Amino acid sequence: MLPLRHHELPPTAGLPLQLADLRPGPATLASELAAQLDVPALQLECSGSACLLIALLTLRALQPQRRRVVVPAYNCPLVAIAVRQAGLELQLCDLRPGHYDMDPAALRVACDERTLAILPTHLAGRVADVADAVAVARRVGAYVIEDAAQALGARQAGASVGLLGDVGFFSLAAGKGLSIYEGGLLLARDPELREQLARTAARHVPRRFAWECRRSIELLGYAALYRPGGLRLAYGAPLRRALRRGDAVAAVGDDFPLTLPLHRVGRWRSAVGTRAAVRLPAFIGQLAAQAQRRLPRLRRIAGIQVMDDPADARGTWPFFLLLLPDEKRRDAALAQLWQSGLGVSRLFIHALPDYAYLAGVVPPQPMPHARDFAARSLSISNSLWLIDEDFEAVCGVLAAVL
Ligand SMILES: *Cc1c(COP(=O)(O)O)cnc(C)c1O
Repeated sequence: MLPLRHHELPPTAGLPLQLADLRPGPATLASELAAQLDVPALQLECSGSACLLIALLTLRALQPQRRRVVVPAYNCPLVAIAVRQAGLELQLCDLRPGHYDMDPAALRVACDERTLAILPTHLAGRVADVADAVAVARRVGAYVIEDAAQALGARQAGASVGLLGDVGFFSLAAGKGLSIYEGGLLLARDPELREQLARTAARHVPRRFAWECRRSIELLGYAALYRPGGLRLAYGAPLRRALRRGDAVAAVGDDFPLTLPLHRVGRWRSAVGTRAAVRLPAFIGQLAAQAQRRLPRLRRIAGIQVMDDPADARGTWPFFLLLLPDEKRRDAALAQLWQSGLGVSRLFIHALPDYAYLAGVVPPQPMPHARDFAARSLSISNSLWLIDEDFEAVCGVLAAVL
């Protein structure tokens, strides 16, 4: 194992907060980001999964006879939880072999006149094949919801992701780029659908003082500890504790409660996000520049496949998502790197049917390509705190394992 460092780097490159961000100020986060991304109005909600839940409740009311939501089988457990909370049925779709996109043939088998929505997912800042989902959705009369939780700022065909589908959402959770500890943004191209999403939220999302209080304290903690010194306490220590127990699901924070809280985001947290958001475009640019420098180095390691974007897309780079040739070598690399403090981790631990705690939420269908993706993938942080020397150390371990 590499020598343990005094610092701990985050597994994804979040925008660090500054003390001045914490002053009260204009709570215009949604409009600030809408202007930045050049999209129609955004709707601020208390999480990315709350956005998805509101989108599903809205679409369900428009097409009450349709019940199925088609989701890639390698995805965030919160997506499955949101589908259940909306009173809908999860229909998994396996991946293309060795890729994060849904398999086109499997997608066509999964969709029919019972399908309410299809969820192409922009994983790891990479841009998904939304056009194929739209083609299938048109044929069966379903909607497309772009899960852009990990892709705020990613662009496709010259515009923000989230605009090719009917609805899109971004996450503002800790560790997902710009964060107000927990938050989300809803996007819809069509003005009428935007109004319906706002009406659903007005009906279903209450003001909950205790939740907002809790999130505000968590945001203060995040602002204080999201730096290489503080992350040892806030991220590294619990990570190592979970791994000592052999609990990989807890180690990456895949163990979510089975009910999503719904509450309005308060003015102070929105104001904090508004101030930080001003630095977001430059930050995204710096991450992209660092990624373009480091991608060729990763690609020189024979046996590694690095996820990249389709030709007409420009994703964001919170971390690199890699596939190794097999699980054995992936695990050998992680044995040396996961606890090294160098920002190496895993994305989701399992394919959705393989989480024991989701047994009542996810139907038990075999999803071999999603399972293979979970078994062979690892992530390398693209944090600006990861200096060249550290990145080279990570590459050295990967090369030795392969
Ligand atoms: C994090 C995440 C979500 C949920 O977003 P939250 O803001 O954490 O609720 C949904 N989909 C994907 C792909 C995610 O990574």
